[in-house]
Amino acid sequence: MPDTRIANFGAGPSALPESVLLEAAQGLLNFENTGIGIAEISHRSKEFDAYIKATATLIRDQLAVPPTHDILFMQGGGTAQFSAVVLNMLARHRLLHPELPDTERVLDYVLTGSWSKAAHAEATRLLAHGAATVHVAADSRAHAADGKSFDGLPPHAAYTFSRDPVLIYYCENETVSGTQFAGVEGTPTSFPFHLLPSTEGTLLPLVGDYSSSFMSRPIPRLADHAIIYAGVQKNLGPAGATVVIVRKDCIVDVDAAARLGGTHVPVPISLAYKPFAANDSMPNTPSVLAVYISGLVLKRSKALGGVAYYEQVNRRKMQKVYGVLREGAARGVLVPKVREGEGSWMNVVFGVSGEGAEARFLKGAEERGMKGLKGHRSVGGIRVSLYNAVTEEWTDQLVTYIREFIEEEAK
Ligand code: PLP
Repeated sequence: MPDTRIANFGAGPSALPESVLLEAAQGLLNFENTGIGIAEISHRSKEFDAYIKATATLIRDQLAVPPTHDILFMQGGGTAQFSAVVLNMLARHRLLHPELPDTERVLDYVLTGSWSKAAHAEATRLLAHGAATVHVAADSRAHAADGKSFDGLPPHAAYTFSRDPVLIYYCENETVSGTQFAGVEGTPTSFPFHLLPSTEGTLLPLVGDYSSSFMSRPIPRLADHAIIYAGVQKNLGPAGATVVIVRKDCIVDVDAAARLGGTHVPVPISLAYKPFAANDSMPNTPSVLAVYISGLVLKRSKALGGVAYYEQVNRRKMQKVYGVLREGAARGVLVPKVREGEGSWMNVVFGVSGEGAEARFLKGAEERGMKGLKGHRSVGGIRVSLYNAVTEEWTDQLVTYIREFIEEEAK
């Protein structure tokens, strides 16, 4: 096979390890020695049933997911979870507190970028008829240098969590604006776990969108989360499956909640967690191919040392790119878009100053065999995505190019 592959820094769907893709090509013809390809085999076959369970176990082992939590594979991407987390957690809250007036059911959202903003917009849309209210617990735009951009994280003093909320929502890594909560607890840039409300005997309803940082490093305080979810199309596999790690008390009977009457929002059965938990993620046909390739990636990452391994590699990659970004900023060529220390490990975003400079940057990168560097259409600029499958060699190649570009532009 001719080697026509290039360094892919795209934000998602994104690069996958070549060895996995070659293995998957075999699996397309013959899955687990069944003589039937993975895109053809029944999800009810004993081979696929064993495979999907083993894939969940690979996640459980590598992230140390406790037995209090189930691991589900769902469909509809992160966007379906914007709705699912609201609907399931609202049903849970209604069952826990049937006597409460709807005006006292509050959902807390932490806004740090366009993805948490989109999740907040969906909650607002679903709850427009008054089943609950949506509260912004912090908004990093209020603290931005220009007063309007998502250029960092809210200071801890800015958080206003509600008492006993339906859920507390945050996006751990904002793929478009390029901010991420630091992994080191207690630092000004960590998620403020210590400020979360005490929930009087019930468990914390904390929901984290980990779509673009899942499996890239350990998840801080994983066991304290009600739900952690991630579309697989960044670090794990092709688009189509979403991993949902959900605490068992959040897997509720949504129909029992509906029978309470009052203002409730009907839950489409494809978004209810309970049928997925009760049927090993297969109440209906799952995204077979996406689960399959995710399983191959997870086996590979286990052999390499899991999230502890990726944490080290990803730290080095990120440090190299932020290092050259600082050099470029000092020379007036590159423009950081995120406050120092609050930038994402996975998606490094910056601007290039000067007339036509951004196009020159992208053209030069492409000529050298590097693609996927154009920033999201909503914010422009450059975005370097450094997901697990982006190698250190690719990263070095990019850093060398950026250094040359800075020299050339600074002349
Ligand atoms: N959340 C984050 C952090 C994302 O990066 C994305 C997509 O890139 C989404 C949610 C939406 O996911 P999907 O496109 O799978 O619906």
